[in-house]
Amino acid sequence: MRPENSFDRIAGAEVRYDRLSGASYGTRGVATRFHATEAFEGKLRAAFADLWEACPLGQADVIASGGTFADKPGAHGRGRAFDLDALFWPERTFVARSYPQDCRFHLAVEAVLRGHFGTVLNYRYNAAHRDHLHLDDLAPTGFVPEHRSRVLFLQTMLTHLFDRPVAVDGIIGPETRGAARRLLQKLDRASPGSLESAQALDDRLDDVWPEVLAVAARRGFAQHATTAARLDRFRSAEDDGERPAAGDAS
Ligand SMILES: [Zn+2]
Repeated sequence: MRPENSFDRIAGAEVRYDRLSGASYGTRGVATRFHATEAFEGKLRAAFADLWEACPLGQADVIASGGTFADKPGAHGRGRAFDLDALFWPERTFVARSYPQDCRFHLAVEAVLRGHFGTVLNYRYNAAHRDHLHLDDLAPTGFVPEHRSRVLFLQTMLTHLFDRPVAVDGIIGPETRGAARRLLQKLDRASPGSLESAQALDDRLDDVWPEVLAVAARRGFAQHATTAARLDRFRSAEDDGERPAAGDAS
């Protein structure tokens, strides 16, 4: 049954529907009220507030969504799921379908969201999720080696954010665990020679998952932070009159 509770803003951003037609995907869409349980809405609020905090661009103006409640089995049918299509800041757009061209930024967004939702299905997961991030809270957050979506995320993080390339196949094995072990040592979350068994490593990954996600988000957003800082310096130099006026050159 559709939850009574509904919203059209999350953490200060307008939430709009961009699936009225195929052509409206990835646009700012139209104003809509989205139905979800109150508890789930609370989690969305916390997750996006966290995202604005972590992302150097700050709060987005618009969150474009493909929907929340749908009369079907699973998390959407229980009012506990959200499909994220796009985010719009004044100076940048994030569209889920552009993952291959914008992978580090995408992984940073996903890292923040994974701190709040146990299930996040993305571009890499399957063809049905190429154009949105599906978020739901039916499963707890953390690292679960049996969950393909979480292993895929670990592998893409290792490969694209931590410069430790591994095969991205969603199956955890010696290669992924070796790279994860070295990463934890680098982050000071494991001493050399410890966590030799697969079980010990997986348990530790689960324990420190929030920290790993936070570092991943920082790395994924780092390029943007640099650009934003440069822009700020440029703007303040302009304000101080240090930049030669355009007319000087003519
Ligand atoms: Zn979904």
